[in-house]
Amino acid sequence: MNKLDAQRQKEIQQAEELLFAGPQALGFAKGLFQGHFVADWVMPYPRIPSTQQVELDETLKNLRQFLDEHLDAAEIDRKADIPRSVIDGLGRVGVLGLTAPKEYGGRGFSQMANCKILEEIGRRCASTSVFVNAHHSIGIRALLLFGTHEQNQQWLPKLSTGEQLGAFALTEKEAGSDAANVQMQARPSEDGSHFVLNGEKRYITNAAIADVLTVMARTPVPGSDKTSVTAFLVTPDMPGFEMLEARMPKMGIRGTATGRFALRDVKVPKENVLGAPGKGLKVALTVLDFGRTTFGACCTGAAKTCLRLAIEHANTRKQFNKTLGNFHLVQKKIARIAADAYAMEAMTTITASLIDRGLEDYMLETAMLKVFTTERLWECINDVFQIYGGSAYFVDCPLERMMRDARINQIGEGANEVLTSFVALVGMRGPGMEFKEIYDTMVKPTRERGFAKAWTAGKHRLGATVRVPEIPVRSAELRWFANQLGRLIWRFNVAVNRALITYREPILDMQLVQERIANAAMDLFASTCVLSRYDAELQSAQRNGSSLSPDQLAADLFLRQSFRRIRHFLAGLTDNEDKSVLATAKSVLAKPES
Ligand SMILES: Cc1cc2nc3c(=O)[nH]c(=O)nc-3n(C[C@H](O)[C@H](O)[C@H](O)COP(=O)(O)OP(=O)(O)OC[C@H]3O[C@@H](n4cnc5c(N)ncnc54)[C@H](O)[C@@H]3O)c2cc1C
Repeated sequence: MNKLDAQRQKEIQQAEELLFAGPQALGFAKGLFQGHFVADWVMPYPRIPSTQQVELDETLKNLRQFLDEHLDAAEIDRKADIPRSVIDGLGRVGVLGLTAPKEYGGRGFSQMANCKILEEIGRRCASTSVFVNAHHSIGIRALLLFGTHEQNQQWLPKLSTGEQLGAFALTEKEAGSDAANVQMQARPSEDGSHFVLNGEKRYITNAAIADVLTVMARTPVPGSDKTSVTAFLVTPDMPGFEMLEARMPKMGIRGTATGRFALRDVKVPKENVLGAPGKGLKVALTVLDFGRTTFGACCTGAAKTCLRLAIEHANTRKQFNKTLGNFHLVQKKIARIAADAYAMEAMTTITASLIDRGLEDYMLETAMLKVFTTERLWECINDVFQIYGGSAYFVDCPLERMMRDARINQIGEGANEVLTSFVALVGMRGPGMEFKEIYDTMVKPTRERGFAKAWTAGKHRLGATVRVPEIPVRSAELRWFANQLGRLIWRFNVAVNRALITYREPILDMQLVQERIANAAMDLFASTCVLSRYDAELQSAQRNGSSLSPDQLAADLFLRQSFRRIRHFLAGLTDNEDKSVLATAKSVLAKPES
């Protein structure tokens, strides 16, 4: 086996171990890749139970009042610091322990309710929303998910109120996108009472202000010469904890403290191991699922701010004796922002509800949400920036800050390229395995029970390719959209099957093909979420006798634009200039001096 094959085998083995722990209910996104529309997960549009809605409304009211009075996003950016009084205030409102169980001092909110809170913060200040995410969505998440009762009792009460702050430390020089390549070492002591940690972490949000950090380090696998990653709770008062750089100066989200630290022979008690030893990567990836969900909420909030700013300016700024809102090219941008903001909210709500309703594996949906919302937000900011013209470029306008702040979204918590490839490959795994079954049987027809298995797999594949899935909308007005969506899912499935048959294993490296498949899947998911929300709103409007709102027009537009994009991505699978792209890249990469 050559070095590349060995690396590929290692990656596949890691992914199998992380992602496919056993039989699970078919999720929505995996269903899409098999030509199914698993309606139960996405329709009807989820609602927060009324008792929790009352509590959420009260918390939102308190939060808005607090933020109106005390949060100054421009000053946070200018001073590159979130004042402690703001952090304390967020703690008092309950934001810093919102999803922690009440018995540990939290508020016991669902992910859906949590996302509404993060959307509100994301509307106003990206530094503050990233700070809250780093503390609550990922910093204390491993404790919430994997902590024992004793660990939760010990750590959570102070972390839930904000008396103490949390951080999540995975990234290192050699472990960025390649998260499995963690180099920080954790050696067990002779008597087994503790681990000794050595290594460095970088780019860690809250590192310098956190009282507890979830740190990923490499531990030996007993009885072998291998190592695997384990999650530890580390506190900065442990001897050997050295803050190398508390606040790395940076482009955006300047209010957050992004730091670098080293652990030098730091003794961490074995009681501070989170989850099973050696299962740290699973811990990390599950934690990031939550981070990606609240990312969606924060981006939704920021997109709504873009819409508000765009409307304000287009209705007041006059050129050629008309307000800008009269020009079609300005209207086009504003309509698109409205459509995208609507979709981002719908997608965030449905993804959060999957977690609340106990879907076991939602990695695909959270990855799709993260890529989709961060890319759309970037477009929204660019559009509103353009509408503001020269005035957007100056620091007295919030847009230059918003643009600087938003740029990290496409990189942090999984670069969008990595997640795009992940969506395509994990999604295609189900149908891919069925094809493999058919292929293996054709190659070795004597395999025991081979024909029976291949026959079943073949029937599944064939069944999906001949049936257009039914999309169960309740509003007659949406039947056309539902039919279109069903046909596009069918076309998507045909395209996935064709790609798998045409390229077979090399598809694992064909990222341009993967990107089109992932993009189509993301738009199918986004359209589904929009249709589900639109349907619920139409039903409610019909019950109340009200007329079409701007929201519903935005939903209509989103569906039309999304369907067009899906057709474009699928057409690109056979009509493209990939060969030329790759040849050009290879040639310029080989001659860096030119
Ligand atoms: C402000 C900020 C805050 C952060 N906060 C935290 C935190 O709290 N905790 C934490 O652990 N980490 C944190 N990070 C780290 C962040 O998660 C990483 O920066 C991110 O995972 C990317 O890693 P990298 O920067 O090493 O980029 P690299 O891994 O070097 O990747 C660079 C680029 O290469 C491309 N690329 C990489 N791999 C592939 C691939 N397989 N296919 C195609 N393209 C690829 C992508 O375009 C990517 O953007 C933070 C980073 C920043 C900038």
